[in-house]
Parts: sequence; structure tokens; C-alpha cells
Amino acid sequence: LGPDYSFMIRVAIPGGVLTPEQYLALDRLADELGNATLRVTTRQAIQYHGVRKGGLKPLMQVLNRNLLTTLSACGDVVRNVVACPAPFADRQRAELMRYAKELSDRLKPKSRAYYEIWLDGEKAASLEEHEPLYGDTYLPRKFKIGFAFPGDNCVDVYTQDVGIVPVVEGERLEGFTLLVGGGLGQSHGAKDTRPVLAKPLATVPPGQLFEVVEAVVRVQRDHGRRDDRKFSRMKYLVEAWGLERFKAEVERYVGYALPEARPLAWLSGDDHLGWHAQGDGKLFFGLFVENGRVKENLRAAIREVVRRFSPEVRLSAQQNILFAGLDPADQAAVEAVFRDHGVALPGSIPLAVQSAMACPALPTCGLAITESERVMPEVIREIDGVLARLELHGGPVPHVRMTGCPNGCARPYSAEVGLVGRSLNSYTVYLGGSHLGTRLGQVYLDNVKREEIALRLEPLLTAYKHERLEGEAFGDYCHRVGVQALRERFADLASV
Ligand code: SF4
Repeated sequence: LGPDYSFMIRVAIPGGVLTPEQYLALDRLADELGNATLRVTTRQAIQYHGVRKGGLKPLMQVLNRNLLTTLSACGDVVRNVVACPAPFADRQRAELMRYAKELSDRLKPKSRAYYEIWLDGEKAASLEEHEPLYGDTYLPRKFKIGFAFPGDNCVDVYTQDVGIVPVVEGERLEGFTLLVGGGLGQSHGAKDTRPVLAKPLATVPPGQLFEVVEAVVRVQRDHGRRDDRKFSRMKYLVEAWGLERFKAEVERYVGYALPEARPLAWLSGDDHLGWHAQGDGKLFFGLFVENGRVKENLRAAIREVVRRFSPEVRLSAQQNILFAGLDPADQAAVEAVFRDHGVALPGSIPLAVQSAMACPALPTCGLAITESERVMPEVIREIDGVLARLELHGGPVPHVRMTGCPNGCARPYSAEVGLVGRSLNSYTVYLGGSHLGTRLGQVYLDNVKREEIALRLEPLLTAYKHERLEGEAFGDYCHRVGVQALRERFADLASV
């Protein structure tokens, strides 16, 4: 007998869009081959945890029969392409999703090896095949692409290697603004690693989008560092060269000059929770999924809603689920299903809780230093308790995100309060990010014990209550006053 290996399997779902049939197939697999849970990720993918070695092939075959795949959900390739999932029924939203899906298809590896190994194609591993984009070496590192809708930054577009924002004039899609060189991962102990937000590269007409994005990927393929994986994300290439040289190289690859990027403006970074009119007589409903974990009564409720009402299912980049195309006459019945299963609905969930995110971390992620998903429910409710005591819980409330290591999968560095696993049961606290995702936080405290997080935030939240400008969010307040100044001011309370 060999060792009893178990695996994490990630399903790539461009834009997070699933048919009801696909969702139900994914749900069945969780029982048959996983650990009876589905994990919605910050890249609109689904993860299975605890898949036994013998279950890998059957799982991939069922996925394939349902037109789903794990291909390039992991690895040094373009990962799952994310896109704002809000299913409003206007032409521009539909176009955005169509471009995201097509770009995702174009950037998949073309090798047949995946199909041969997992899906019983005839040969095994067609090594002689030419891989047109990835070549023999693939990319130096993972590569992330995200589409935001103008004004709506629910996908955290600045944290992508390539962020894409459509330019919409009336009904017409005039082009796309491209941002390059974002990425959040860093390594404790490698002092020059750091989170970086993407910078504006150009605004291109719709017909040039695919070739320009492909050229950016090729530039990274050919020039990204391969000698040290800690520095091989494209953000380090963009920083080492400067934006001007990087742009000139992309222009050389495509063979024409790229226009200046048009300015962007953001109104919201929220995640479309609750009921919304789609604009076509139907409704969509955004369900809060705590830390993306679909299990037990929540999983049963979602299954019943999908079976009975056949909505399209859209996973969000904040680990929640939107149900689209619902009949207004079914609104009460849909809510009743969730209530009957004991699932709390937006409106009855504290705002701080429903805007928080945590990565999986222990026990399923091999890189985790600390807990994240398993402790965040308690930590965020302690913070909500402080907000309630200070009568701040009605909003705007700080967006809080936690990860179990500095890799930053739940994007803590762009949150208003970021909690990053540091050492056993201790976290680095970042403050001053923007709720619109347009600014990174800075280190406020290092090595804060989990039990002390809410306590450490209380004096800051008290100061915020008395000193904020009208409508000012907590992250903006920390940024205006200065994270360093706050640290000095609350040094006695902040020292650990
Ligand atoms: Fe794992 Fe770190 Fe990512 Fe969390 S942030 S899922 S601990 S790699």
C-alpha cells in the first residue's frame, strides 16, 4: 500500500459563471470525492479539499463532462480570469463577461497532455507539441487577470498582473483601460518582496484587447525573472524597468504605439449582496458565504434553491455567491429556503462580518503559518462588538481581511484592516487601505496575538469615531492621519 495522499483541486471558472446544472454537479462531487464542502475562492474558482489520490481522475472526468476544467487553475500560467459577476442585464455587462471568457480560452495552454493524462486521450503527455504562448518554459510565475466594470471595483482590479476596465460611452463599449504589474504576495524574510498595485498602461480599442494582453504575457514570459521565484511575478519586472520601458517593450511586441490610459474613477468596492433588479424584469440575489466555505446547512439550502428555481450561479471575487435570473414572484420562497435552513441573509448580518474575507490557511494550505478561515468568524465578531459598543456598526465599517501567510490570497494588503499570519497565533496588522481597493495599507503592528486584535483596534476606532470627516471611511481616516502617526500616538496601547 502506498501513502494515503489527499489533494486540493481547484476548478477554473472564468468570471465565476456556472449554469445550475454545473453547480449541482460540483455539489455532488463534494460528497462523492471531496470533504463534503465547496470552497469559493477569491478568484471566483471552486476548491475541493481532501480529494484522495484515487479520486483525482474520476473528479476531472465528471468536471469535463460538465464543461468544467481544472486546467490552468494552478501553476505558472494565466490563472482563472476574474470579472465583475453582477448580472445586470445591460449590453456592456454581457460584453464584459464575453470578453473575459474569450480571453480565458485564448490564454489556456494548448497542450493535449492534460486530456491524455486525466481524460483518457490516447497518448500520454504530448511533449513534442508546440505551446504557442507558453513555449517550453511556461511563465516565470502565476499570472492573474481581472476585469472590473467601470466604477465598480468588486474584483480588486489593481491587485492583478493585468487589470482590465472597459471604457463605456452610453451604450457603446469604446475600449479597455489596461493596468499592469499588480500583485500582493510577499515573503517574510525577503525584505525586497512587497505588495504592489497595478499601474495604468494604456487604453486600447476593443479589437486590440486580446493581442495587447497576450503581448504583456509574452513580455513577462521572456523577461520576468526566473532565477528567484520570490521575485518572478511581473510586478518586479514592471518596477525594475519602469512603466515607460515596459510599455515600449509591449509596443515592440504588438508592432504599434499604445495610447495613453484614460483616468479611472471608482464608486464602490462592495460585493452586490442582497436583492437587485437586473433590469430585464428578473432579480438577482447576492448571498453572503462566510469565508467562501459552502458546507452543511448552507450547502443544503443553496442546493435546494438551485434545484427549485434554476438560477444561474455566479461566484464573486469576495467569495460570495450571486443567484441570477430569479423571478420576482419567487423572492419570498427563495428567502424562505435559506431561513428554513438557518442561513442568515444580508440585512441581518453585521456589516463588518459580511464585508470580511479570510483565506483557507490551516489545515488545508501547506503554506499557512497561522489560522485564518477557522478563526476569522470569531475575530470579526469581536471587532464587530467593538464597533457596536462605539455605535459605529451602522457603517461605513472597515473591511477586514485575514490570511494565514504573507502570500496574501484574501488580499489583506488592499483592505482597510489587513491581518497577515506572522508566526504561531500572531499577525501583522496593516491599516490605511481603501474600501475602493485603490490604496495599499501599511504595517501598523507586528506580532499581534489573535486574542488581542480587537483590543488593539479599539483605541483607533474610538479616535476614528471622534475625528472622522463626514462620511469618511476608516481606511481613509488612517491614511489621512498617517499610520505611523497613529502608531506613535497609541504606542503605549499598541506595544506588544
Ligand atoms: Fe495559503 Fe497563504 Fe494563500 Fe492563505 S494566503 S491560502 S495561507 S498561501
